[in-house]
Amino acid sequence: MGGLAVRSLRSSGLLRRHLPTCLSSWKIPPHVMRSSQSEALLPSAPLQTFTDDEMMMKSTVKKFAKEQIAPLVSIMDENSKMEKSIIQGLFQQGLMGIEVDEKYGGTGASFFSAILVIEELAKVDASVALLCDLQNTVINKLIARYGTEEQKATYLPKLITEDLGSFCLSEAGAGSDSFALKTRADKKGNYYVINGSKMWISSAGHAELFLVFANVDPTAGYKGITCFLVNRGTEGFHIGKSENKMGIRASSTCPLTFENVKVPETNILGQVGHGYKYAIGILNEGRIGIAAQMLGLAQGCFDYTIPYIKEREQFGQRIFNFQGLQHQVAYVATQLEAARLLTYNAARLVEAGRPFIKEAAMAKYYASETAGLTTSKCIEWMGGVGYIKDYPVEKYFRDAKIGTIYEGASNIQLNTIAKHIDAEY
Ligand SMILES: Cc1cc2nc3c(=O)[nH]c(=O)nc-3n(C[C@H](O)[C@H](O)[C@H](O)COP(=O)(O)OP(=O)(O)OC[C@H]3O[C@@H](n4cnc5c(N)ncnc54)[C@H](O)[C@@H]3O)c2cc1C
Repeated sequence: MGGLAVRSLRSSGLLRRHLPTCLSSWKIPPHVMRSSQSEALLPSAPLQTFTDDEMMMKSTVKKFAKEQIAPLVSIMDENSKMEKSIIQGLFQQGLMGIEVDEKYGGTGASFFSAILVIEELAKVDASVALLCDLQNTVINKLIARYGTEEQKATYLPKLITEDLGSFCLSEAGAGSDSFALKTRADKKGNYYVINGSKMWISSAGHAELFLVFANVDPTAGYKGITCFLVNRGTEGFHIGKSENKMGIRASSTCPLTFENVKVPETNILGQVGHGYKYAIGILNEGRIGIAAQMLGLAQGCFDYTIPYIKEREQFGQRIFNFQGLQHQVAYVATQLEAARLLTYNAARLVEAGRPFIKEAAMAKYYASETAGLTTSKCIEWMGGVGYIKDYPVEKYFRDAKIGTIYEGASNIQLNTIAKHIDAEY
């Protein structure tokens, strides 16, 4: 359409009629400020301010990661196997029951402490961080939140000291659309019979307890989804071979099959048909753990790389001197800082009991993207040395990719963020 025609449409008001009604010139619409839901906080402190307990936990984990995990990272990656001594170490250090009530033997610390622990572990190894993350932000929490007193007394003390748990939601046909799951649980008297299969179950190679989501009434759709506590070794329950993965290779990721697995109804977690609510709720929080994992991984990779580029010389000077490189380093450092603030803010929102779902999705999305960018850039900055397995940078790069896939792929995080924005305005 020519300029003249547009002008005459405008003056006739025809064009305006095709525009959204909210478009009123220079008036402040009622939804302005809705996106910045800040609240006055007294006293105000920077986000990177920690309590004494949080500081102590952070430094304990740092020492543990440096002394006990670091020497085994490369071999665990090569063998696709988590060393038992590391799992035992996590239990012994009290890192597997961070938020669990002291009554059950837990540390009784904050959610933020768990986030700091996951971040510190991921600086050294993302697989170990995932193991600790799932136990703290998903497994223990589901049992503490929805378990009966008897279930809590039975499972929590073990989950804190010796037993790993697995969260079993995904199936071959139910990934992002996880509530399309087909695993069934049919009621027979005072027990249920589970049939079906699961895919991609983390920690399944070592876990003793499996939180299995199955549908008790497929005619009710997702409202039939129920969470069952299934013990390793239950008849008819098979754990398949761990997947041969690109990254987080030390973390076992197994398929599961259920053939007429009998589970007493006392092993239902929470209420029948409420499994979908529990899964959504816990994954919303769990995503902050994955954000922390990605943040730690990216920071660990950056910390390894910068000293190298400050020392490596080409063209008669250290390569860090080149402004082309400095700008890239500064850009990545800024992304890291932003990812950290998003992650810490989401965690503090959870602790404060304030709405956090949009912020958690943003943190997970952004930290995953940042981990991808940081690890890719670190390889480039280190040149050939970054590309070979003798040094940790290529492993950080492989480990980073999972952040954009599990606990809700990046598109799913963007869907969540967009849904909130749609509702806010
Ligand atoms: C190493 C590993 C560990 C895992 N651990 C566990 C575990 O412990 N427990 C568990 O239950 N599951 C686990 N998972 C499963 C994981 O959560 C799923 O892989 C994830 O939800 C994605 O599902 P999918 O792989 O079927 O991909 P799909 O759902 O098929 O997605 C493929 C692509 O399509 C895009 N897409 C899908 N739907 C939409 C949409 N609506 N809008 C826009 N884009 C869309 C996605 O973003 C993605 O890019 C794990 C997976 C891996 C790889």
